[in-house]
Amino acid sequence: MAKLLEGKPLAEKIKEGLKRQVAALKVKPVLASIMVGENAGAAAYVKSQSKAAEGLGIEYRLQNLPQDTTEAALIDFIRKLNADKSVNGIIIQMPLPAAIDYKKISAYISPEKDIEGMHPQNIGKLLFGKAKLIPCTAAAVMELINATGIDLYGKETVIVGHSEIVGKPLALLLLDKFATVTVCHIGTSKAGKLEEHVRRAELLIVAVGKAGLIKGDWVKEGAVVIDVGINRLADKIVGDVEFEGAEKRAAYITPVPGGVGPLTVTMLMRNLVEAAEAQQ
Ligand code: NAD
Repeated sequence: MAKLLEGKPLAEKIKEGLKRQVAALKVKPVLASIMVGENAGAAAYVKSQSKAAEGLGIEYRLQNLPQDTTEAALIDFIRKLNADKSVNGIIIQMPLPAAIDYKKISAYISPEKDIEGMHPQNIGKLLFGKAKLIPCTAAAVMELINATGIDLYGKETVIVGHSEIVGKPLALLLLDKFATVTVCHIGTSKAGKLEEHVRRAELLIVAVGKAGLIKGDWVKEGAVVIDVGINRLADKIVGDVEFEGAEKRAAYITPVPGGVGPLTVTMLMRNLVEAAEAQQ
């Protein structure tokens, strides 16, 4: 039976260190959070982020903009936050109105204040193994892997999902540790090859958003399984991996909820503290 890789205790430990770092700063750090229009999902993230910030002594400055904000107006607003010396980090809440292109907008955030680690300059640093501001979910997954103590050198690693916020940055981070990395995606499934890749994974990371995509009996005996997926069913939240089957075979497995999720917001705060230290 697998050991549960829970995010909360790990997050608490990291937060203790962050509290000390925040206390050592000359000025209380400020996280500016931009929310355009109203959205229940974004509001839930804002709530958990502001709670985490408050607990660490970080000021969470929520900036509400109207639903009909134009791209040009949002860029202008970001430029003002870039120039505001009291602001250390900027996050844009998703989803944005359809008329606004997140990729375009996020490139206007000053790389020094880009606490989501999505500015092209920070992604470039990630490629060279020099990134300080790492995309938060990918950083959370790396923390969970480190907590197992496994040696990544030459480890047969399969990532399912190739998004810019999870799969792609993780592939770079794991290559940096000399893991042997295979990245699977919708094309792999369409080619009928997902199962064979998953079956040989000693380290399996799944970030797709499809409940039960990975069958429990595909999981290799003794594997480390990190399930990033969040799927809201009628009565509960589940990941992308069939938990009951997988936990019988894996050595370590993350629960959903309670695995990657609680760490992601902590990684956002870690990036904010990192940014504030560099700026001060
Ligand atoms: P995304 O929608 O940007 O990308 C999905 C990926 O899954 C793509 O690479 C796509 O090709 C692949 N895919 C889709 N169908 C597939 C299939 N049948 N077989 C194989 N691959 C398939 O996803 P994202 O933004 O990275 O999010 C993925 C999941 O992770 C979602 O459930 C999301 O809610 C969750 N998530 C969780 C956290 C957290 O903190 N726990 C953070 C971010 C995302």
